[in-house]
Amino acid sequence: MSWLVQPTLVNEPFSDPGLFIDFRFGRRALLFDLGDLTPLSPRQLLRVTHGFVSHTHMDHFAGFDRLLRVCLHRAAPLHLVGPAGFADRVEHRLNSYTLNLLDAQSVDFAIIASEFNGAGFDRICEFRARKAFRRHDLPEALRSPGPLLDEDEFRIDGAMLDHGIPCLAFALTEKLRVNVWREGLRQLGLPVGPWLREAKRAVRQGAPDDRQISIRDDLSVPLGVLRQGALRTARGQKIAYIVDIAYHQRNVEKAIALARDADQLFIEAPFLQVDVDFAARRRHLTARQAGDIARRAHVARLIPFHFSARYREREDELRREAETAFSAASACDWTL
Ligand SMILES: [Zn+2]
Repeated sequence: MSWLVQPTLVNEPFSDPGLFIDFRFGRRALLFDLGDLTPLSPRQLLRVTHGFVSHTHMDHFAGFDRLLRVCLHRAAPLHLVGPAGFADRVEHRLNSYTLNLLDAQSVDFAIIASEFNGAGFDRICEFRARKAFRRHDLPEALRSPGPLLDEDEFRIDGAMLDHGIPCLAFALTEKLRVNVWREGLRQLGLPVGPWLREAKRAVRQGAPDDRQISIRDDLSVPLGVLRQGALRTARGQKIAYIVDIAYHQRNVEKAIALARDADQLFIEAPFLQVDVDFAARRRHLTARQAGDIARRAHVARLIPFHFSARYREREDELRREAETAFSAASACDWTL
């Protein structure tokens, strides 16, 4: 089975945090956090439809400029989501530029900045190039409660955590993986083609077996035949991303709930446990705490990152500490 998306850390673990989530098919990508985006090519950045920003400390948001620079003449909008106060931050960044060259003939690139409170959106603002990116608040009706993003093939949930300031964590869940079994297709005498996209969508949406899938003008096949002979389904993957959180019970419970049963958990592990007091003052996790959260959330794979520069020569220790806590037996639970 092939995944819908492929997540990759933007930088090495001592540099700015950020996850580039590339879609295997279709020219599209998502970003969790907008820190230093230098390693990403313009071609990659142009695919980004949505950027989810945990909070606007510089190492999570300084890449906004580069993303704007690359996307400025793009027709498709850029959706950005952050915690309370995020729309103001976006507005300030846009206001820092001289925009006199933008006019009614410019490509009308739009940024839609939304503020998520953990359960729904408090504010959605639009900034359009043809209006020199002046802020325009969108109507109340758009602020419905629910996940951060809900599409045919995947959903993104968010949790509001505490980092001394509000900080969002994210989880992408693929709804259902639908793959084509080529041998089955051959046995049915059907060609590979764009029609398979429609067939997969119909399966994902739970369409009935008698739904006719059009292969070409003079040929269509019931979905049930494809289901039985040429399409394979499985649970989609889940990818969670948690950075910059204090280690206290409420945070940990929310983090575990968000990351539960994830196939991959990308989680900050900035400090060693020996420096736990310093980590607590900075409202960050230790590697052991990160591994503990991963274990209690029953994730399949732990990817610790966002390491503090003070351990640049001790990366192995950070990884080992996280891994040891992750693989510890449940009996070793320590209390908060
Ligand atoms: Zn921070």
